[in-house]
Amino acid sequence: MSRPYDELLGRARSGLEKISKKSTLSRLELPEPDVIWVGNKTILRNYGAYPRTIRRDPDKLLMYLAKELATAASIDGERAIFIGRKDKQSFTQLFQKYMQENVLCPVCGSPDTHLEKVNRLYFIICEACGARSAVRTT
Ligand SMILES: [Zn+2]
Repeated sequence: MSRPYDELLGRARSGLEKISKKSTLSRLELPEPDVIWVGNKTILRNYGAYPRTIRRDPDKLLMYLAKELATAASIDGERAIFIGRKDKQSFTQLFQKYMQENVLCPVCGSPDTHLEKVNRLYFIICEACGARSAVRTT
């Protein structure tokens, strides 16, 4: 059985309000993507800052980006190299999406979380409120 749309919307809204009230996001402000194009490659020069900021595996984050951008990518020190010309805006949006799906606690909005794998499913474990939430996408 699916929940009525209104209820879902209400839940989403109260979640967002909580996030903005707590303003934990400002503490975790992501850097602006530093993007250059060389030939038909896109080089994200400050890639290393992202997994450090959100405390996630650099390889997993790169795999996520490559999948979403439907291209191949590799890490070169602090930089990530993507095949094809990708604009700065796409990276900004993808990092935000990744945060929503894999980093922010859906219950309290805290970014102080880590992932735990149980029976091939990932859960966001919140270090602020203790909530355990299934990750929406894998
Ligand atoms: Zn929480």
